[in-house]
Amino acid sequence: MTELAGYAVTERNSAGRAVVEPRPKARGEFQRDRDRIVHSTAFRRLEYKTQVFVNHEGDLFRTRLTHSIEVAQIARSIARALGANEDLAEAIALAHDLGHTPFGHAGQEALNECMAGHGGFEHNLQSLRIVDKLEERYGAFDGLNLMFETRAGILKHCAPARARELGAVARRFVENRSPSLEAQICNLADEIAYNNHDVDDGLRSGLVELEQLDQISLFARHAGQARAEFPQLTGRRLIHETVRRMIDAQVTDLLAETRKRIAAQGIATPADVAAAAPLVGFAAPMAEENRTLKHFLHAHLYRHHKVVRMTGKARRIVGDLFTAFAADVRLLPEQYQRKVAQEGAQRVIADYVAGMTDRYAMKEHCRLFAIGID
Ligand code: MG
Repeated sequence: MTELAGYAVTERNSAGRAVVEPRPKARGEFQRDRDRIVHSTAFRRLEYKTQVFVNHEGDLFRTRLTHSIEVAQIARSIARALGANEDLAEAIALAHDLGHTPFGHAGQEALNECMAGHGGFEHNLQSLRIVDKLEERYGAFDGLNLMFETRAGILKHCAPARARELGAVARRFVENRSPSLEAQICNLADEIAYNNHDVDDGLRSGLVELEQLDQISLFARHAGQARAEFPQLTGRRLIHETVRRMIDAQVTDLLAETRKRIAAQGIATPADVAAAAPLVGFAAPMAEENRTLKHFLHAHLYRHHKVVRMTGKARRIVGDLFTAFAADVRLLPEQYQRKVAQEGAQRVIADYVAGMTDRYAMKEHCRLFAIGID
């Protein structure tokens, strides 16, 4: 690892693990976090969870897993270039979507509605719940016993009332402090990853046309450069040549702007990062172009009638499953039934349903509702 800057989170300035463990022998503490995340059950499930397109719609679309790997790659590049803790950034990035329900945001909205009056459901809080509690892999503790800064980085949003219940890991939301530089890097890497891969997947699916994207300045400028350099380029290669230029331009812009803010505010320690307004970001023109692209994707991809149709089905599946289990908890697998007394039926059902992959949720729906299937 390259030399860390003074503002990076390190093992020395870390608040450590909730349960004290012997130091790892051949790797750092944040590498160990990354490794624990990669070995977790929740991480493997990401392979079969929707990003935008439901898993069975095509083999080449991003899933939550490939999305998370792309986020980690971008986050690592940015972290290394800024002298931040690359291992921590990677760990947060790989874990940031662990709490997603099947069927993406449609699944989360449906589950949140089912959980109204029982504490609600939010994928971000669920990611933390998975690493703190739900993973069953160690004899000595529940969850993965990750480093404090990894857990705090996973918790991207949190309402102040809930933050008070969560204690130290969420204290920054009560005290209005900024997340670590590594967590900020992951937030922006997430945005860079999905905006760009959704352009790619949108075009691949045929739901978005090249002519439409040529109206969007960020895309048009880089497509123009690609066409100028390679006039014979068409189809997939033109798209890929454009998307890779967009990612590069966004990362380059972000590095320059972030370095400028760090220097201007004399940021030297993690405490300085916490006290300052968010430091990791685009310069104003790129931020504007990024917003325009985001709006375009909302209007033309996420709200495309073909995506919305699947969204409707997803809501029904998640809602039906929850309702059936809530009406009779004896329908739950036994290891979940055993937790009902301690956690409350609704939270246990939410954990079970949220943990399902897209296809497992569809199968479970058939098993519960289709006569003649066991
Ligand atoms: Mg994400």
